[in-house]
Amino acid sequence: AQERYASIRDLPAIAKCGTEVSLQMNAGLIADLPSLAGSGAEGVGLFRTELQFLIRNQMPRRAELSALYSRVIKAADGKRVAFRTLDIGSDKVLPYMKPNDEPNPAMGWRAIRVGLDKPGVLRMQLQALLRAADGGPLTVMFPFITQLSEFRAARAEMDKALARERKLGHPIPSDLKVGAMLETPSLAYAPDAFFKEVEFVSIGGNDLKQFFFAADRENERVRRRYDTLDVSFLAFLKHVVERCRIAQTPLSFCGEDAGRPIEALCLAALGIQTLSMRPASIGPVKHLLRRVDLDEVRDVMDNAIINGELSVRRAVADWLVHQV
Ligand code: PEP
Ligand code: MG
Repeated sequence: AQERYASIRDLPAIAKCGTEVSLQMNAGLIADLPSLAGSGAEGVGLFRTELQFLIRNQMPRRAELSALYSRVIKAADGKRVAFRTLDIGSDKVLPYMKPNDEPNPAMGWRAIRVGLDKPGVLRMQLQALLRAADGGPLTVMFPFITQLSEFRAARAEMDKALARERKLGHPIPSDLKVGAMLETPSLAYAPDAFFKEVEFVSIGGNDLKQFFFAADRENERVRRRYDTLDVSFLAFLKHVVERCRIAQTPLSFCGEDAGRPIEALCLAALGIQTLSMRPASIGPVKHLLRRVDLDEVRDVMDNAIINGELSVRRAVADWLVHQV
């Protein structure tokens, strides 16, 4: 598939209206990184760090993690990598952690909740990331932030880690960006201060959709009932776009939907500037984006809503047939 799109690999994803969308890739293993050059991704919009913890049978040491992150940064060759801190919970159980019997693991003690309640691992991970950056740029995002106080507490851990590195005389990142993943509806209604304090927001569409529709993402039966292009979900995303626009906070989307062509067009038309997806989706999404005018996509979406459609999918798909 990558060969098919080789001719546009090094071209930007600029739509006919002139809007440029940054297409990035999701990764989680060193083995994913060769795709960075192969796919034409502008960076790694989501590096899922938990995979490195899940494939071991004991807690990795800081030096090991730092060596690993350093390899990732070097392999990215100057492109940005957004490292997401550990997103484990009772569904992704580490073999060396006491299992937690929870009736609703997806809504349980997971991700940043674990990171803040038992900060040892988070601290080690932040230190490993700072060491790996070795004075260069670094991007870190915290998973499953549901309220401002959680972001502040996580950010404070980063500040403490930075102070410690300074004291030890180690280099600190030349440009550190700290962001939050928006994966629960509550965060979209956080105080203005949240959108000002974060350096970027990344929508975790997989979890967000699960919590928006109260439909388990692992349960095919209920998951498939709900369309990402449902007008209610789009209205919600518009609200997030608007809050980020007002606060001038960069916004990206890194769930699976970012790699689906019609969804990607609609997300870009809503004003989301960065889409992060599996590497194989970058070629097809870029190909499509370069052929359409996003203002027109927005008109098609608006008209579908005015006409009482419950999802904009059909309208956008029908319109596309006549475009490409
Ligand atoms: C998401 O929730 O959309 C996301 C990108 O993270 P994960 O799929 O790892 O939960
Ligand atoms: Mg998630």
